[in-house]
Amino acid sequence: MTIDGSRITIFDTTLRDGEQSPGCSMNVQEKARLARQLDRLGVDVIEAGFPIASDGDFAAVEAVAAAVPRPIIAALARAARNDIERAAQALHAAVRPRIHVFLATSDIHLQHKLRITRRQCLEQARASVRLARSFAADVEFSPEDATRTDPEFLAEVVTAVIEAGATTINIPDTVGYTVPLEFASLIRRLRERVRGIDNVIISAHCHNDLGLAVANSLAAVAAGARQVECTINGIGERAGNASLEEIVMALRVRADQYPYITEISTEQLYPTSQMLEEITGIPVQPNKAIIGRNAFAHEAGIHQDGMLKNPLTYEIMTPQSVGVPDSKLVLGKHSGRHALSLRCEQLGYHFERRELDEIYRKFVVLADQIKHVLDHHLLELIRETYGESHRMPPSRVESERASAVAAGAEEGRKLFPTGVSSEFSAVSLPVNSGSEHHSEQEDYLWGV
Ligand SMILES: [Zn+2]
Repeated sequence: MTIDGSRITIFDTTLRDGEQSPGCSMNVQEKARLARQLDRLGVDVIEAGFPIASDGDFAAVEAVAAAVPRPIIAALARAARNDIERAAQALHAAVRPRIHVFLATSDIHLQHKLRITRRQCLEQARASVRLARSFAADVEFSPEDATRTDPEFLAEVVTAVIEAGATTINIPDTVGYTVPLEFASLIRRLRERVRGIDNVIISAHCHNDLGLAVANSLAAVAAGARQVECTINGIGERAGNASLEEIVMALRVRADQYPYITEISTEQLYPTSQMLEEITGIPVQPNKAIIGRNAFAHEAGIHQDGMLKNPLTYEIMTPQSVGVPDSKLVLGKHSGRHALSLRCEQLGYHFERRELDEIYRKFVVLADQIKHVLDHHLLELIRETYGESHRMPPSRVESERASAVAAGAEEGRKLFPTGVSSEFSAVSLPVNSGSEHHSEQEDYLWGV
């Protein structure tokens, strides 16, 4: 296998590790729907589930494999025959199947959880990878709790599974214990010690118990890892996994420090985050990097002044680059049909006038109940009314977004004749407060 040293493989485990977090379970239809969005986002690998764990997980892996042919579809398996066979069965329809086998390697797990010796662990790892290779050409192996494993023994296990045919070696910080310098030196050490490691992809899988999942993942990349395992909104066991959007944007914004590329369409980051929030009902914290509600809000006067003179004074990336629509305009009960339509287009949905009427009627009822109608509320409402049938193709979304952004700026100029752009309109200011919108107000009041 030839490995492109500048390419970072984005392995999304929102549907597996992410789904394991409390309150984040998804049914088969929801998983297939999110998988289609992950495909639009451009992830390289979708880990769709753990087929032996339940019939639901098995069905989800099958459904995702059928729904999205482009990415590699991974299924998780313990290092056991039944698990691996079940994973292989669930992947039967996948164009590019990957079996992901894991086995703990730390003494604490070997002694207290698995009750096996290091020797037995080594043999089991080797045999299970061989078995997985008999079903799939693409096999990933994870030594669970790698960061608390004796590094010498870890190197031995990794050597053995590469000999047995593993094509990706994932180094999981299962308990979120490592720190960036230590994790980087662990990866370097493996690259120095393990025969054949240059022929496989090294992967990082970090948990956020100390808030270091993204920092540790980036340290691993700098040390030679070429796959990162992560989740949308950073959901996952306990404090979560490394957040996909943060890793991708750190690589992109700081390309001077990380001269690597991903295939992610960053404009799809926010729509993907919103879809996950809508499906799980778990809100994203407002100050979450990249996709949080406040990530691009500038309220302090001095910041606004600087932003007016040049956005680069306080903004290291544009909201548009991560697909955040004009987040400074909040939809409320006073918003007009035009603002609603604009926001729908920004979110990737186009409606003809009559169709919009129906959305608008429901929107007004909702806006009466809650103060601010957020994007995920709106997405839910659209889906309840029309499903996915009005989703625009991605290329169209791009051009609609560009014109929507321009229109937003136009709107801003109307609201602030002194030249303040929409970027700086007060957050709670209804979009439709300008007198120019009077006729539009009348236009939509008929339905209320
Ligand atoms: Zn994990």
